[in-house]
Amino acid sequence: MPRALVPGSFDPVTNGHLDIIERAAGMFDRVLVAVARNYSKAPLFTIEERMEMLAEVCVPYPNVAVDAFEGLLVDYAVAHEATVIVRGLRAVTDFEYEMQMALMNRRLNSAVETVFMMPGAEYSYLSSSIVKEIARLGGSVKGLVPDRVEERLRQKVG
Ligand code: ADP
Repeated sequence: MPRALVPGSFDPVTNGHLDIIERAAGMFDRVLVAVARNYSKAPLFTIEERMEMLAEVCVPYPNVAVDAFEGLLVDYAVAHEATVIVRGLRAVTDFEYEMQMALMNRRLNSAVETVFMMPGAEYSYLSSSIVKEIARLGGSVKGLVPDRVEERLRQKVG
């Protein structure tokens, strides 16, 4: 059974991310959530904070580990014996970017396959950016992110 990577910025992890991680955990023997260090926009949470929140919410899944990566994802996959990249597809708007990334990664290393999963419909409009925006403006993000993340968002922007 191949090892699967779930890469992303996770700034911060949302219930949409968790939906995909849970599906991947049910499908693959071993899942590695890989937090991107080379984030072009300035992240709200440090890489350590993002990993810490992920580690907390992934406790129920014993086959899921959390790590940080930088550089080419396919190189990281090879170094960690992963042959599958799992990405979430929310709406058609995700498609073009995801197709570009998947085909470029295939060109870089055809042994690493990208698979896409759809989250529950209730998460299809959810992104880390909108969650941060709502939190900054004082709105409630309850139910959109894990409780512990909601707390940390409040501390960060409050
Ligand atoms: P990136 O900067 O790589 O897009 P994100 O943290 O925004 O990182 O997303 C990581 C992965 O999680 C991507 O595959 C993205 O499509 C997926 N994702 C993000 N939000 C959701 C959501 N609400 N439902 C399902 N998948 C999601």
